Amino acid sequence: MAPTTLAPLTTLRLGGPADRVLTVADPADWADTVHAIDQHDEPAPAVLGGGSNVIASDAGHRGTVVVMNTRGITAERVDDRTVAVTVQAGHPLTDLVAWAAAEHLAGIECLAGIPGTAGAYGQQVSDTLHHVTAWHWQDGALQVLPAHGCHLRYRQSLFKARPGRWTILTATFHLTRTNQAAAVAYRPLADELGVPVGARPPVAEVTAAVLANRHGRGLLLHPYGPDARQVGSVFLNPPVTAADAPRWSAVGCPVHTDSDGRLRASAGWLLEHIGCRPGHRLADGIRCSQRRTLTLTVHDGATAASLRAVLGTLAQDVHKATGIELTPEPVVLGT
Ligand SMILES: Cc1cc2nc3c(=O)[nH]c(=O)nc-3n(C[C@H](O)[C@H](O)[C@H](O)COP(=O)(O)OP(=O)(O)OC[C@H]3O[C@@H](n4cnc5c(N)ncnc54)[C@H](O)[C@@H]3O)c2cc1C
Repeated sequence: MAPTTLAPLTTLRLGGPADRVLTVADPADWADTVHAIDQHDEPAPAVLGGGSNVIASDAGHRGTVVVMNTRGITAERVDDRTVAVTVQAGHPLTDLVAWAAAEHLAGIECLAGIPGTAGAYGQQVSDTLHHVTAWHWQDGALQVLPAHGCHLRYRQSLFKARPGRWTILTATFHLTRTNQAAAVAYRPLADELGVPVGARPPVAEVTAAVLANRHGRGLLLHPYGPDARQVGSVFLNPPVTAADAPRWSAVGCPVHTDSDGRLRASAGWLLEHIGCRPGHRLADGIRCSQRRTLTLTVHDGATAASLRAVLGTLAQDVHKATGIELTPEPVVLGT
C-alpha cells in the first residue's frame, strides 16, 4: 500500500507520510481493520478522528494510522426522562449536538461548535457520558469502559494519558428528554441568551447561543480564510495555587476554577502579557489568529517543526516573565 500524507487529515494541514492509512467508515469493517493491522505485526496503530487537535510531524508516522470516520446515532429509552444515545466514534460532534437539540435531548448543548469527533471528546462530556466501547490492542478484545473509568478531567482522559492502548469505537451518553437545557452556568452565555445565570432556556436556544458566543470569540473552525488552519487553543490554562491566585487576579489575569475544582490562570492572558496579540506574526507562516491570541494559525511556509518551535519559545518566554509553565494542548502524531 502506498504511503499517504497526513496533512489533509488534519485541520492544520501539516504532516508527512504515514506507512499506511486505513479509514474505517463502516463499523462492520472493524474486524477487517484489526486483521489488516495484525498482518503488519504492529502493537497498535495511531488513531485520528477529525484531526482538529493534532500536530502531525513533518517526518510522518512509521506504522499505520487508523482514521475513524464511522457515522451513526442510535437512541434507546432508559426511563421517562432519560435516553441512552450511542454514537459512532467518527461521528462529528457538531452533528451530534444538532441532532440532540432537534430531539429535545439536553446535556451536550454546550459542546456546540467544537470540531472533531465523538471518539476524541474532551472533558466537558463527563456529566453525560455513560460508557464507551473501545478496542484494547494488547488484549485484542472489545472492552466496555464506564465513564468513571475513562478518568475524564480538564482536557485529559485515560485515552490521552495512554495513547495507543485503546481505540474508541462508540460512546454512549445519557441525555435528558426535556424542552429545557441544563442550567446555564457561564455568564457570557447567560448574557447572550438574555437570562440570569442558572436559568434553563430551551435546548435549541442554548445551542444557538453557544454557537454565536463561540463565533464572537473566534472559536469556530471555518474551512477557508486566514484562520482556517488551526487546532483551537494551543496551550492548556495552567494551574495556579490558591495562594498565588489573588496575585494573578490583581494584575488582571483571569483565574477560573475548572470542573475538577482546580484554579487555572488564563493561558491567553499570559501570551498577551509577553506581547502577543490577535494577528501577531510569530514566525514564517505562523500567526496568532485574527480574533484570539491563544489560537495559532498556520500559513504557507509553516512546518510542524516550526510550529512546535514557536510553542516552545512562547512557553519559555511566559516562564521567564511569570514563572508559570505552559503545556501545549494539541497532541503530536509521529516523530
Ligand atoms: C476552532 C477549534 C475550537 C476548539 N474548541 C475546543 C473546545 O472548546 N474544547 C475542547 O476540548 N477542544 C476544542 N478544540 C480541540 C478539538 O476540536 C477537540 O479536542 C476535539 O475533541 C478533537 O477531536 P478530533 O476528532 O478532531 O480528534 P483528533 O485531533 O483526530 O485526535 C485527538 C486525539 O484523540 C485521539 N483519538 C481520536 N479519535 C480517537 C478514537 N476513536 N479512539 C481513541 N483515540 C482517539 C487521537 O489519537 C489524538 O490523540 C477545538 C479545535 C478547534 C480547531
